[in-house]
Amino acid sequence: MSKFDYDYFVIGGGSGGVRSARIAAQHGAKVGVAEGKHWGGTCVNLGCVPKKLMAYAADYGAFFEESLGFGWTYENVSFDWSTLIERKDKEINRLNAIYQKLLKQHDVDIYSECASFTDEHTLQVGDKKITAEKILIATGGVPRYLRKIPGCEHTIVSDDIFHLKHWPGKTVLIGGGYISVEFAHILHGLGCEVELLYRGNLFLRGFDDDLRIGLAHEMRRQGIKLHFDCDVTKIDKVEGDDHPLKIHTTHDTVLECNTAFTAIGREPNSQNLGLDKAGVDYDEKGYIKVNKSFKTSKDHIYAVGDVTTTPHLTPVAIIEGHYVADMLFGSEGCENKLGDYDQIPTAVFSSPPIGTVGMSESEACKKGHEVTIFRTTFKPLVHRLSGSDEETMMKLVVDKKTDKVLGLHILGRDAPEMLQGFATALRMGATKADFDKTLAIHPTSAEELVTMSKPVISSDTSEKDKT
Ligand code: NDP
Repeated sequence: MSKFDYDYFVIGGGSGGVRSARIAAQHGAKVGVAEGKHWGGTCVNLGCVPKKLMAYAADYGAFFEESLGFGWTYENVSFDWSTLIERKDKEINRLNAIYQKLLKQHDVDIYSECASFTDEHTLQVGDKKITAEKILIATGGVPRYLRKIPGCEHTIVSDDIFHLKHWPGKTVLIGGGYISVEFAHILHGLGCEVELLYRGNLFLRGFDDDLRIGLAHEMRRQGIKLHFDCDVTKIDKVEGDDHPLKIHTTHDTVLECNTAFTAIGREPNSQNLGLDKAGVDYDEKGYIKVNKSFKTSKDHIYAVGDVTTTPHLTPVAIIEGHYVADMLFGSEGCENKLGDYDQIPTAVFSSPPIGTVGMSESEACKKGHEVTIFRTTFKPLVHRLSGSDEETMMKLVVDKKTDKVLGLHILGRDAPEMLQGFATALRMGATKADFDKTLAIHPTSAEELVTMSKPVISSDTSEKDKT
């Protein structure tokens, strides 16, 4: 008989925690999980899933317009924010229930309460004290709030937008990362006037420059105002005005809006875990320190996902949680399940969306690769009739010495869907010659990726003039 209540207790019922609990239970461990807010965590409730549903809603606006070019006519098209939020919530509730059911089906005990350490093996879970031999922290992250700016209390964050009772109206987005760019598309597509303000010279830092430049060009073309090298200095609220929020900027301008939405990154959700009582180390920002096996400073306590400094993406948390469960309770071979963090495919659900995997051109050069660049920019077939001027950009970063494709970048309709298969190819070490040998599927946009024959001069800035 174990002297502990559980072999394994997971704090956090999000993507990483649920996967880890389920796999540990499948391996025969006695497992409990505590989740204080929403089963499924950020991704299901306040992130990827509702965001994608809202992005679909936004896309319909453009589809209606484009359909005219194909002979459709329509009248009285309108959009209702509360219907979207209500239907989205229904779907999210369904997913919440599935997460709980999945755990129960695997005999995992679930606690819809917050958990915190009282000592290194004991957790306070609601009003119960629970002991566990091994513990996993998978509590994820929370939005970072704008602080120290007068009037910052008038801003909302991504958690709020998903439950906003009313259509947001004219919106200013602050930040130049994934969330800001994605919600610029969503809100613009849902009829809001949108301005985006970013402190750097071009948003999506770290992405390939051609993606960043191309997306900025497309967003401006659609009527989204972008303010780069620009920061907020204060926010005033004037009740009764059509646009009550007045955002003062370092450009000495005042942007007026109904909604000020900050998306300036996320912070680890680690403050209320009683980490000091368990002797778990964390850095100055609150991220839990782990080694390559996700072990914390305590041998029996592990941490995965956004509460650590790993890449903050759902599939990463899932694979890490799975790995820890296999390693602790499973059989051999668990090493193989760990992904390669150098080649994480990722998408930005902007308009048009981005799909990207591997190195950007500048990263490859910084790492000492001599590269050949293949790039094409074209108007996809659909827009020959739709009337839209939207273009697609595709780019391959190829190592001159080995011919390996180091990076693949797409800006264009369906880019995220196109990317997944190519991510496998890159992971397998595909060369440009392999791409060339692959037969095209015609007519698609993706075929351009296997038919690019002429390299461009990497310093060619003709497209960069678009900003
Ligand atoms: P990101 O880390 O992507 O971007 C944060 C942005 O805010 C950057 O542009 C940053 O500027 C800026 N910023 C940071 N601090 C300040 C500040 N004090 N004042 C002004 N600007 C500031 O964060 P997001 O909030 O957009 O997204 C959070 C995370 O969620 C992402 O990192 C990603 O892991 C995940 N996510 C993934 C998605 C996907 O896979 N499609 C979608 C949405 C979110 P600078 O560049 O100068 O640092």
